[in-house]
Amino acid sequence: MKRSLVTGGAGFIGSHLCERLLARGHEVLCVDNYFTGRRATIHHLMGNPFFEVMRHDVTFPLYVEVDEIYNLACPASPVHYQVDPVQTTKTSVHGAINILGLAKRTGARVFQASTSEVYGDPAETPQTEAYWGNVNPIGPRACYDEGKRCAETLFFDYHRQHRVSIKVARLFNTYGPRMHPDDGRVVSNFVLAALRGEPLVLYGDGAQTRAFCYVDDLLDGIDRFMAAPDAFVGPVNLGNPAEISIRGLAETVLRLTGSRSTIVTRPAQADDPRRRCPDITLAREALGWAPSVALDEGLTRTIAYFDRLLTAGPAAAVC
Ligand code: NAD
Ligand code: UDP
Ligand code: UDP
Repeated sequence: MKRSLVTGGAGFIGSHLCERLLARGHEVLCVDNYFTGRRATIHHLMGNPFFEVMRHDVTFPLYVEVDEIYNLACPASPVHYQVDPVQTTKTSVHGAINILGLAKRTGARVFQASTSEVYGDPAETPQTEAYWGNVNPIGPRACYDEGKRCAETLFFDYHRQHRVSIKVARLFNTYGPRMHPDDGRVVSNFVLAALRGEPLVLYGDGAQTRAFCYVDDLLDGIDRFMAAPDAFVGPVNLGNPAEISIRGLAETVLRLTGSRSTIVTRPAQADDPRRRCPDITLAREALGWAPSVALDEGLTRTIAYFDRLLTAGPAAAVC
């Protein structure tokens, strides 16, 4: 039986990943400090004898015996990662050092959840893995962007220097059921506002773009990447290349919910990237992967989730 460690396993993506690994017959150790994660997302797994949860902060060393590691621990929403920016950088950098030290000692293959934010406010679109990025190193997003960039550096240096088996993926905006209602990211904000009949707030004019990947598609990509030959270490973009403006997203959410909420604007956020869209040629060619859930379909499932959450409360957090 394979022993998998998932850091950040009580978070949005991590909880789906723990569930998948258990379904595949793995023994899963979920490590989380509950900074943005919740017990509600993993509550349904607690009775499984092959599932174990450890409250632990990855900035501290971790000595466990595992066969593979998924390093997802890090707040992902700008609202949350900017609350304690020093801790955000520590989580990415000290967290990577500890997790790589663990991988080096145990010989475990290690997946790193890197991010499209390493491209910053990109001067090229769509972004290929060859693009080095355009990040403001001292801005309010830098704790996350530069933390993740440094983590990539550490992953590649542990790979070259210590022969650690690494898999570095750059995830683009991902959404779906189990996003925290107070997550603060655009999909959950818009869906909840629409369902509550409150205004959808655009930061800036809404012309900035993102490309949204449904969580199941992302997990398929992670699976394929982890199963790929050792030599394919990445970085590889995992995202849905269907680019949409944030205003377009707001209009789509209103259409799908049938909500009569209005759309209002607020000042733009500092250093907010204007364009973001993955070039997924590498993932297509090396992994045979491409997303299959269209935005309307994924949003419909996400809307149904938040609708249940509003009606039934936290008990509906697992779906
Ligand atoms: P999330 O905030 O829901 O989950 C992150 C989890 O990490 C939470 O459970 C949190 O409590 C935990 N955590 C934070 N700091 C920790 C620490 N120091 N020690 C232990 N646990 C800690 O976010 P998510 O959307 O599930 O993102 C998961 C990973 O994927 C993150 O590393 C994020 O940077 C990356 N990512 C996500 C997206 C996205 O759109 N969701 C895009 C790019 C990259
Ligand atoms: N580490 C860990 N778990 C392990 C092995 C190492 O948390 O199973 C930590 C250890 O505390 C160290 C870091 O990972 O600070 C980096 O380990 P490495 O072996 O690269 O560094 P060294 O111990 O030689 O400084
Ligand atoms: N955004 C918005 N209204 C919101 C939340 C976010 O207009 O309620 C915008 C935000 O300024 C950014 C985009 O939506 O341009 C995506 O924001 P999010 O925080 O989801 O993720 P990011 O890709 O910026 O990390």
